[in-house]
Amino acid sequence: MVNEFDLIARYFSRPVPSHLLGVGDDCALVPLDAGQQMAVSTDLLVEGRHFLADVDPYSLGLKALAVNLSDLAAMGAQPLACVLGLALPTVDPRWLVAFANGFYAQADAAQCPLVGGDTTRGMSGVVISVTVFGQVDPQKALRRSAARLGDDIWVTGSLGAADIALQLLQHALPSNPALLASTRAALERPEPPLQFAQSLAGVARAALDISDGLLQDLGHILAASHCGAELNYEALPVHPALRSLPPAVQEAAVLGGGDVYQLCFTADASKRETILALAHLAGVEAARIGCITEGSGAIVKRADGRAVTVPRAGFDHFS
Ligand code: ADP
Ligand code: MG
Repeated sequence: MVNEFDLIARYFSRPVPSHLLGVGDDCALVPLDAGQQMAVSTDLLVEGRHFLADVDPYSLGLKALAVNLSDLAAMGAQPLACVLGLALPTVDPRWLVAFANGFYAQADAAQCPLVGGDTTRGMSGVVISVTVFGQVDPQKALRRSAARLGDDIWVTGSLGAADIALQLLQHALPSNPALLASTRAALERPEPPLQFAQSLAGVARAALDISDGLLQDLGHILAASHCGAELNYEALPVHPALRSLPPAVQEAAVLGGGDVYQLCFTADASKRETILALAHLAGVEAARIGCITEGSGAIVKRADGRAVTVPRAGFDHFS
């Protein structure tokens, strides 16, 4: 049986770059560049709520950090360091090794070293709390309140696959192993566009990451910026695996499905070429899906002018 300190030493004490003070003291120390402000974000992942108990622990470690890095991306911030809080009902070395490997793989890929945390025995189910620290020039940060009338609306990556995978795993859709195989990675291994997002700072206006569904999340930009939006359904980057599904199932997943961890952002029309060039450079797909209008709320139209409505606007933990 390992104690708390053995556990930290064994699984969560890999070396950090020499400009940081990492695990082992009362606090970590993380320098900021001149003129930058700290960007901080935290997310809780609760077993049974945000992940299924039998999820592959490597993917879980990866995702626990990725969803936080996604928030830094949505601000245009550069990752600096992260801390990890863990409540574990049991100590399972195989689970811990795999979880730590996934977490560190994401930390290395994003150059966001793990510099501290807290570990405790939990009552029931695993609880994971990750906090990320980043830096951004406050003049260039991508705030939700910054959208302006006439801005283009963009989205990165593709939409809908994570939601379909979740519905398949929860038996809300008829069993379909081929469809699960082609959508599962989107759910379990999100890849927020971290490099691209940093290059958008000072180029785009408002941004956020899509965690609860495109329409619901875009609604946060619209509310904060006091404007409305019109989206062209045909311009939305529907994940190719969804093409065989009935249109209503696709529309619900694309417009209302969560766990996307891609960016939705607005930018002046004069930035179109710059944005496409930056996306190309970063190896990211960026689709122009609509524009900011007067009024409030978003409407989604088909090319023939027909409005698309969806039964679920998005995810809400307390609804
Ligand atoms: P304290 O008593 O000051 O809270 P702890 O004994 O909880 O310190 O932790 C000892 C060290 O290990 C600290 O540097 C802390 O940041 C780090 N640590 C604890 N849990 C984790 C974890 N899950 N991942 C990374 N570092 C951790
Ligand atoms: Mg502690």
